[in-house]
Amino acid sequence: MSTPKILILGAGYGGLLTTLQLQKKLNYNEAEVTLVNKHDYHYITTWLHEPAAGTASADHARVYLDQIIDTNKITFVKGTVQSIQPEERKVTLENGDVLDYDYLVIGLGSEPETFGIEGLKEHAFSIRSINAVRQIREHIEYMFAKYKMEPERTDYLTFVVGGAGFTGIEFCGELADRIPELCQEFDVNPELVKIYNIEAAPTALPGFDPELVNYAMEVLTRKGVEFKINTPIKQCTPEGVVLATGEEIKSATVVWTGGVRGNSIVEKSGFEVMRGRVKVDEYLRAPGYDNVFIVGDCALIFNDQGRPYPPTAQIAVQEGENCGANLVKIVRGEVVLEPFVPALQGTLASLGKGEGMGMVGTKKIFGTSAALMKKASDLRYLYKIGGVGLALKKVRL
Ligand code: FAD
Ligand code: NAD
Repeated sequence: MSTPKILILGAGYGGLLTTLQLQKKLNYNEAEVTLVNKHDYHYITTWLHEPAAGTASADHARVYLDQIIDTNKITFVKGTVQSIQPEERKVTLENGDVLDYDYLVIGLGSEPETFGIEGLKEHAFSIRSINAVRQIREHIEYMFAKYKMEPERTDYLTFVVGGAGFTGIEFCGELADRIPELCQEFDVNPELVKIYNIEAAPTALPGFDPELVNYAMEVLTRKGVEFKINTPIKQCTPEGVVLATGEEIKSATVVWTGGVRGNSIVEKSGFEVMRGRVKVDEYLRAPGYDNVFIVGDCALIFNDQGRPYPPTAQIAVQEGENCGANLVKIVRGEVVLEPFVPALQGTLASLGKGEGMGMVGTKKIFGTSAALMKKASDLRYLYKIGGVGLALKKVRL
């Protein structure tokens, strides 16, 4: 039999962890493993709110793939996937190249979910990649510079964050930390700057522990964030946002953090999806295709109560590890695969420098301890993908 070809799409949490499992466990020549990614780096999506607000550099949130991938075992292709043809076992890249495979792993991540809200795609920013957060950071700074030239334009100093889920909350924490620095740099009175976090649901962080939600809101309110809860955004315009109440907030910066859906390439390639995510089987395989595995935000899995697990890095990492281990079994001719069972450790969110909150197991943690626990979990991840060297290089206390 010829050497099996394994093709992995996306070097995010899911795709990278699949790749690293194969790199670690397979011997040379057991399989031809190819990883395709848009960029020659992996980015730490869970940190992107920091460079977006400008409290950390974008460079800090990326890791070049050649630092973690053994190119003797893995072929890396820098390219953008355009479509997948599962019937023909082929993937087409934007440059026209066609890659074939015996086994495919789809880990292409997510896209902003705009729910068809008018103007969001055109006028709002989203925290979704290194390039996107560089643009947000530069835009925020430019707004301060513009305000100095047109002081009647207070919309330049008004920042709207649409959606108080974890991304919205974490970004608000960083932005609130950055504002005093920008005010000093541009000689702006801090009282003129407004940050609105607007949430459609009756509470911020819907579904999360109410005591922790209150804590997060109190911390952010103290830092200057104004919440508008139970207030859906109905429209986004070049001038700002229009709320369901009819109120209009004039703002030159709208950052949409209202949710995500799976990468649209998956749906366009003919897979059946719910909000862009494929309901995978217990081995993370796409229905009807035993040779197509889906990991991370493109995969939809359910808990015992039949509720979908939220798309998180924590789950994407575990899925990648499970998928990699199962591919090793397949390559070696083993017939019994390991079903995927998520082992959730908790949820930790940052609320700006040195502040956080979250749940570890059943224990609620607040403040500095939560921030430190989050750093510890970041360190564990860096160690997992790049060993002590990477962890030490990237750690920021
Ligand atoms: P991603 O990590 O998004 O990776 C997708 C990869 O695919 C990227 O490398 C991308 O460049 C590549 N790609 C995309 N399209 C193409 C294409 N067409 N061709 C080639 N390559 C492509 N989760 C947590 O568990 N804990 C947290 O603390 C946390 N914090 C977060 C903070 C923020 C600001 C955000 C935005 C999300 C956070 N999340 C967190 C959620 C988490 O980041 C995602 O669930 C996770 O990144 C999903 O991993 P993934 O592998 O599916 O996709
Ligand atoms: P989300 O779906 O978790 O939250 C989006 C929020 O936007 C919701 O509260 C929703 O009610 C609100 N919203 C939707 N439409 C709206 C409208 N028209 N107007 C105002 N508000 C509206 O999305 P997210 O925060 O981007 O998170 C995506 C995934 O990443 C989630 O699974 C989340 O758990 C995960 N994440 C985790 C962390 C962490 O663990 N620290 C941090 C960030 C993201």
